[in-house]
Amino acid sequence: MMIESTKVTELKGIGDKSGKLMASLGIETVRDLLFHYPRAYERFEDPVAIGDLEEGKIQTIKAYITGKVQSTRGKSVQITTTFFEDETGRLKAVWFRMPYMKNCLKRGEEIILRGYVAMRGNQLVMEQGKIYTPQEYEKLQGYLLPVYHTTKGLSNNLISKGIRQVIDGMTLREDSLPGEIRKKYSLCEINYALRGIHFPLNVEEYYQARKRLVFNEFLDFILSLKELKIEGEKWENEYPVCDFTESEELKKNLPFSLTNAQEKVWNEIKADLASQKPMSRLVQGDVGSGKTILAVLGLISVAAQGFQGAMMAPTEVLARQHYGSIVKLLEEYHLPYQVVLLTGSLTEAKKREAYERIEKREASIIIGTHALIQEKVIYDSLALVITDEQHRFGVKQRESFANKGKVPHILVMSATPIPRTLAIILYGDLDISVVDELPKNRLPIKNCVVGVNYRKTAYRFMMEEVKKGRQCYVICPMVEESEGMEAENVLDYAKTLKDAMGSDFSIDFLHGKMKQKEKDEKMEGFVENKTNILVSTTVIEVGIDVPNATVILIENAERFGLAQLHQLRGRVGRGEHQSYCIFMTPSKSSATKERLEILNNTNDGFKIASEDLRLRGPGDLFGIRQSGLLNFKLGDVFQDSDLLKMAKEVSETLELKSNITIDRGLL
Ligand code: ADP
Ligand code: MG
Repeated sequence: MMIESTKVTELKGIGDKSGKLMASLGIETVRDLLFHYPRAYERFEDPVAIGDLEEGKIQTIKAYITGKVQSTRGKSVQITTTFFEDETGRLKAVWFRMPYMKNCLKRGEEIILRGYVAMRGNQLVMEQGKIYTPQEYEKLQGYLLPVYHTTKGLSNNLISKGIRQVIDGMTLREDSLPGEIRKKYSLCEINYALRGIHFPLNVEEYYQARKRLVFNEFLDFILSLKELKIEGEKWENEYPVCDFTESEELKKNLPFSLTNAQEKVWNEIKADLASQKPMSRLVQGDVGSGKTILAVLGLISVAAQGFQGAMMAPTEVLARQHYGSIVKLLEEYHLPYQVVLLTGSLTEAKKREAYERIEKREASIIIGTHALIQEKVIYDSLALVITDEQHRFGVKQRESFANKGKVPHILVMSATPIPRTLAIILYGDLDISVVDELPKNRLPIKNCVVGVNYRKTAYRFMMEEVKKGRQCYVICPMVEESEGMEAENVLDYAKTLKDAMGSDFSIDFLHGKMKQKEKDEKMEGFVENKTNILVSTTVIEVGIDVPNATVILIENAERFGLAQLHQLRGRVGRGEHQSYCIFMTPSKSSATKERLEILNNTNDGFKIASEDLRLRGPGDLFGIRQSGLLNFKLGDVFQDSDLLKMAKEVSETLELKSNITIDRGLL
């Protein structure tokens, strides 16, 4: 009997070796396997004319066998060959080590041949093709064959066969979604959906299956938020902060005054800190809107009260930067609080020291990465936790604090421009503040989209800016497929740039593969304006703040998503100087141009997000998730925003019928 907790190694064809490989993908039980959804689908496309074949792809032809079918012995392998013809041309077909092919091919017959098209000598050849009768092929054409994430030594076929056994052998699940709701929202039955996501018989079935499963993901998420919210309502504010003298004082002495939007949000934060309930707030604001200072004011307020406050950054580089600027700020304004940095790359000794200072309450402000919420850290009186949306506190983490008796205030920062209607759903457990105004001293960034022939001009322009005392970023082409290339790219580029600009300019580089210490040094050099031009990969994408930087040149801009480009661009235009963003691309494609034009025409993150969505189109069939926000397995909050709203609606009716339990197992 196959139940969900059955180990995959009990399936036919999956031995210990494959089992280990599967485990490395996080698949240990039958259940894990069932929820290992395909990452794409292979389809049997229409046959093409021989004259239209292209090298280097798997393609299909429908043609007559016109050549003699020959079987010869090559140097070491047995080779079968013949020729195919249609009205547009003649094609050689070759099979290695498949002597039986000889018996399957008859001269004069019209068949379908699907295989890899290669250039051999100076002619196209189809290799290892599979043959079908036209009738067989037509039937297959409806099918979508699942393509799974896999790992070396584990074939797609084995995963697929395993899942087939699971689907055929498991007892049907009970659908936790009432029939009437399924009917009302045209959602298919759950067993049908699970079969359909793996083995859709046609495109329509795939759509149906996906719709149901995405809906489930969203509904489950929304219900979890709801629980979290209900749970949260029981909590008392155990760290009330009512005296804001010190933070207000600091605010007054800053070199700038807060924008109205910042002021409004700051008041909301203060009210939360002082209220009956602990704060659960999201602060949403476009890049450069000045969210960090709000976080800092919050941290200082709790520190002044004798509590601890922690801020978690998405990258080490950023954590360092926050740490550095807070330390500096406290010194400058003679505030007596100790700040400690805690990141994964610290040496064990340094970590221990940090733990100790935290536990003994020597440190009242703690800045770090993920390491902040590891078990080893024992806080003495953690009153405020500030995170970004990527590290948004999960239910578990928050509960773990709650279990220790005291619930901290939570502040989540987000620069993702999502429409309010979606934000309310996705952050259903949080109150939302929006910083919808940029500081007044900002001049809008000037943009341009240019071809690579403009590179020299761009370099000259950057040199001019540096002579004026400003600084520049160059974002290097990122080669995703081969991570090893990352360092090389940046190194080579920096070298080329040095050659082009001469020794008067100090050029440095930064990439993700560097040791943390090295990264820090490089970043520091840039912050202190010892480096004029920093060549970097996207490691500087999030949050880094060097207001003196006025130019960002993005090479191969076509390889980035719009939202990411917008974030990158946000590294400049953070001070009083006119800033520039140069999107450089070798691409001549009109689609690329259209996409980049959006950025060229607006600096408004919300507009960019919605235009991006429009260009991609909600119906983008196999457009696998792109926004990366909140990481659902199948769903994309932008593309599937309709389903998100639908799930929200259903979650509200479920409240009225609290006897319905949703099968959480389906996430
Ligand atoms: P983000 O919202 O992207 O996190 P930051 O908080 O890093 O933005 O702020 C960007 C820059 O703007 C920082 O250098 C910060 O000191 C500065 N800044 C913040 N608020 C103001 C303001 N009201 N007036 C002028 N500059 C400001
Ligand atoms: Mg920021």
